[in-house]
Amino acid sequence: MLTDLANKENPRIKSVVVKELPQKRAYIHGDKEKIILSSALFTDDFTDQEIQGLLYHEVFHTMISNYAGQIAFLFVVLLIGLISMFVILSFLALGIQFLVGGFFCSAHMFLYERLQWRSEFKADEASSKKVSRETLISALSKGIPSNYMNCDSPTHPSINRRISRLRKTK
Ligand SMILES: [Zn+2]
Repeated sequence: MLTDLANKENPRIKSVVVKELPQKRAYIHGDKEKIILSSALFTDDFTDQEIQGLLYHEVFHTMISNYAGQIAFLFVVLLIGLISMFVILSFLALGIQFLVGGFFCSAHMFLYERLQWRSEFKADEASSKKVSRETLISALSKGIPSNYMNCDSPTHPSINRRISRLRKTK
């Protein structure tokens, strides 16, 4: 049934598989034809709608991971590379290239993070339109220890950030 749901949204998805996962709740298998869901979702107190919300989030990832994003990312990398090279070369004489290099490295990380985060927000938004915003918010925060709610990572904004973003979207 979950496979039908995913397949209806993106016909490239061939199956939704439930597996025991140590941490992750759901992810896309490399070939983007399979979505893996954690068996923990089915033993905890997640409703069907909430599970669907988490599934839709992954389904929309398979559709959002777009060329535009990849091109934008490459462009940013290239641009920052050129700028840093230029700046490093011009500051080389002053012996502060290390500092400048560090700065551009963090700028690069920052932009990479923004692009990654953007796809998370987009997948959340699309999913919330399928199962309702409150359902997705409830699914996102379920079983997450409160001290993790504000944890950002390079690939994922914190749950609290995602929730407040969802609340802002119409
Ligand atoms: Zn995601």
